[in-house]
Amino acid sequence: MQTTTLLINLSYIVAAVLFIYGLKLLGHPLTARRGNQLSAIGMLIAVVVTLLDQSILSYGWIIVGILVGSGIGAYAARKVEMTGMPEMVALFNGFGGIASLLVGWAALSDGHLSSFILITICLSILIGGVTFTGSLVAWGKLSERIDGKPIKFSGQRAVNSGLIAAIVLCGILFVNYPDAGFWLYLLILLAVALGVLAVIPIGGADMPVVISLLNSYSGLAACAAGFAINNNILIVAGSLVGASGIILTNIMCKAMNRSLSHVLFSGFSTVKSAAMVIEGEVKPMTAADAFYVLEAASTVAIIPGYGMAVAQAQHSVKELQELLEDNGTEVIYGIHPVAGRMPGHMNVLLAEADVPYDLLLEMDDINPRMETVDVAIVIGANDVVNPAAREMEGSPIYGMPVINVDLARTVFVLKRSMASGFAGIDNPLFFKENTRMIFGDGKETINQLVREFGDN
Ligand code: NDP
Repeated sequence: MQTTTLLINLSYIVAAVLFIYGLKLLGHPLTARRGNQLSAIGMLIAVVVTLLDQSILSYGWIIVGILVGSGIGAYAARKVEMTGMPEMVALFNGFGGIASLLVGWAALSDGHLSSFILITICLSILIGGVTFTGSLVAWGKLSERIDGKPIKFSGQRAVNSGLIAAIVLCGILFVNYPDAGFWLYLLILLAVALGVLAVIPIGGADMPVVISLLNSYSGLAACAAGFAINNNILIVAGSLVGASGIILTNIMCKAMNRSLSHVLFSGFSTVKSAAMVIEGEVKPMTAADAFYVLEAASTVAIIPGYGMAVAQAQHSVKELQELLEDNGTEVIYGIHPVAGRMPGHMNVLLAEADVPYDLLLEMDDINPRMETVDVAIVIGANDVVNPAAREMEGSPIYGMPVINVDLARTVFVLKRSMASGFAGIDNPLFFKENTRMIFGDGKETINQLVREFGDN
């Protein structure tokens, strides 16, 4: 018996080390894949050891579970488009939340429970429920199954405050009268309602921050569930997810120059942009003409955004980069922390096309160099290069740090139309004196430029 306990605890330590080391490796694109694999192995060890330890299932069922779970996971991972990853992460968070809710609920069946355990059960149900429905709403908004605009109604704050007060009261009653199922069911109902009501007033443009926050919540819920069933590895894994989620949330808020409370409580897109009067005219250009400017450029900065992911233009971009370099041009990339639809979106795409990491400059590194850049090629980026963030006090994105492409000598904007980006606001960059719009699918335009290099 003693040896079994020792073996179980040792396995948990191995799993915890794999989680922590895996997280560290996730910090760089070069090692991220390995980090993911190590953490997954850690999780496999943790799950199998727990199931055996608690004599919950036989080997046969564990193997069936691994096969079915891995099958669903592998299918979903292969099928998801790169642009659909954030939605998938939102769903994962939601499943994590509901799992913690169910574990907390199941822990009640253990019979006589101390007040501490009842409080942790209460927390796992509450945070798990909020995470579950909040993530489903975030998924709906990102996938445009729900309107991305903030959904607001009068007295919303009062309703939310009332809901939180009711949850606290309900939690107290549940801890004092755990046998009366009523308080438990009411708590579950209020928690799932709070998840919906907390996320619907937040605009689609803030969903990345919300998903990252909900990721942190799913960790906290798992941590509480770990206390509820007295499982150390669940506490460790939950704390790691909770802490890393909140750190990422903080980084993203900084990238948008906004506080978390501003994201959560003041609808991004509802700020009236009365001062947004855009002057200048749009100057379209053909790819053939753009080629002559590029051919003469000594430094070119490529700034990708969500549209590059949609067009799947990363391989063509790499091809253009090589042709420019062969022509003696220095090529660098400017990567905004929230370009695309998930943190690291552009890095992943460019890595897929084998673009060297040392050419990818973060916003703070490329901005000071922008005035020396001959041509900035903006491919499918919009919000992250919007100078209104710097120049127009009335703009909803005023104060958000952006890549200052307008400071380059010439800017080529590659997109299909004059449509706005994710935040739904106009972009004065398109009307600037030094901007040329090259309309069309991003990949098609880059391919035309590549052909021009071949023909000349
Ligand atoms: P935006 O969403 O601001 O703009 C993308 C642009 O790409 C559009 O204006 C669109 O214009 C263009 N586009 C779409 N398809 C194509 C195509 N096939 N070829 C060429 N262009 C195309 O993207 P950004 O990357 O600049 O900004 C990201 C936005 O998303 C920010 O508001 C951010 O807050 C938000 N966000 C970020 C997340 C993250 O973690 N990175 C997650 C979720 C949201 P057109 O239709 O005219 O072609």
